[in-house]
Amino acid sequence: YVFITEYSERMITLKKSNYINGEWIQAGNYAELLSPYTRESIAFIPQASFEEVELAIEAAEKTRMEMENLSALERANILYAISDAFANRRLEAAKLISLESAKPLKYALGEIDRTIETYRFAGDEAKRLVGELIPMDAARTGKDRFAYTIEQPLGVIGAITPFNFPQNLVAHKVGPAIAAGNTIVLKPASQTPLSALLLAEIIDKTNLPKGAFNVVIGSGGTVGEQLIKDERIKMITFTGSPSVGIGIREKAGLKRVALELGSNSGVIIDRNVNLEPIVGKCVTGAFSNQGQVCISLQRIYVMEDLFEPFITAFIEKTKVLKVGDPLDEATDISAMIHEKEQKRALQWLEEAVAAGANVEYGGHVENGILQPTILSGVNARLKVSCEEVFAPIVSVNKIKSVEEGIESINDSMFGLQAGIFTRDIQTAFHASKKLEVGGVMINDIPTYRVDQMPYGGVKQSGTGKEGLKYAIREMTETKLVVWNQE
Ligand code: NAD
Repeated sequence: YVFITEYSERMITLKKSNYINGEWIQAGNYAELLSPYTRESIAFIPQASFEEVELAIEAAEKTRMEMENLSALERANILYAISDAFANRRLEAAKLISLESAKPLKYALGEIDRTIETYRFAGDEAKRLVGELIPMDAARTGKDRFAYTIEQPLGVIGAITPFNFPQNLVAHKVGPAIAAGNTIVLKPASQTPLSALLLAEIIDKTNLPKGAFNVVIGSGGTVGEQLIKDERIKMITFTGSPSVGIGIREKAGLKRVALELGSNSGVIIDRNVNLEPIVGKCVTGAFSNQGQVCISLQRIYVMEDLFEPFITAFIEKTKVLKVGDPLDEATDISAMIHEKEQKRALQWLEEAVAAGANVEYGGHVENGILQPTILSGVNARLKVSCEEVFAPIVSVNKIKSVEEGIESINDSMFGLQAGIFTRDIQTAFHASKKLEVGGVMINDIPTYRVDQMPYGGVKQSGTGKEGLKYAIREMTETKLVVWNQE
């Protein structure tokens, strides 16, 4: 590593950090980074000062033209090179994620596999970025006019990212930004800066112009706000919590803003299905990465005659999950990101139990880790149901009809993705029309995502779409050119 002097699986010493204008900067201030799992120190992370953030924005601004002048093929090849580098460094990239975020290694490896694909798709899309011909003569005064649009880069993109997918959600911003010919200043989540620095090390070895990609590390309230308020930044692409996202929209003025926010995703299980494969999917959807996934399965709505067999099988499959060290390949569940987040989840749990919810499984902390928790009899107005729980807690609810399931899922301030298991084609069509979400998964859990599909929510789950082609659209300006041929 360029940015690491000493490295072990448990402790990292950073020599330099904050990657600005193609250089590693020696920082003045450091913040201690604690392992979410051991709660011990894993690194001291350099924090970007106001002046360093300035330098990063300046570097991104001055590299705009150089970036705009790259051909589509040159941009694509840079993205393919990033993808290849992740393929070559798969295990170490995954271990960094596990170390800083406590994501179990098997899921971290899955995240790197997705990252490899995400940059590949971005490269492919760079070569497909086209405008369109406008049929001018369809208008009364359009005769003898020839017109087309070109998709031009916006300029400097400010990217602010969350802790839960520290490599792939960064890829969903950096990939399309480069594909569209933009420059970037990235502020990763304070808990997960190491993955962003690894990306900087990888990008540094590609042909991306120096200054086109910059990493500045620091808190949301300082570095994040500085990016949001700076006039040279033309777009903020944000993934994170609804409250921060809504604040960004209020402060961003006329900047373009894309917000990928949270949800309390639900699935419906119709009466005509084979439960066996569904149960396994629901366990993964509810508990992978400790439930800290934006499309985590939080609410399950099962037809009443399947409720008993479903919950029995669901508990059985949850019981065998291995809880423990994120760096152990066998681990399924590990620690949540911060102790305070775990406390918050426990409070919500207590509130639910006090209001009459049944704890079917888990519900307590063992060796510092909140165990996978299954609830039933949960009132829809309780926080564990109506807010984003973002913890390994899932509620299983009885429904009398699919319609009741649809209404329950829609009775939410969020709407990212939803799922329905059914063998009835009419029901599937009906649900896909009626569910108020950005994506409906037929015969799958809402947690399903591949990286080229359009992805984004309605209501408080956000505005704007990710998925390479769609994110690129948000990161370009459509310019019209009209030729008068009279
Ligand atoms: P968070 O909102 O706490 O932080 C996200 C980022 O915003 C971090 O980099 C943080 O430092 C920064 N930030 C915090 N306050 C800020 C401010 N005032 N101004 C500017 N930036 C600020 O979110 P998190 O805890 O890291 O991530 C979890 C949330 O992200 C959940 O709500 C989850 O659903 C959501 N999420 C959404 C998606 C999606 O694609 N829709 C994907 C993953 C996570």
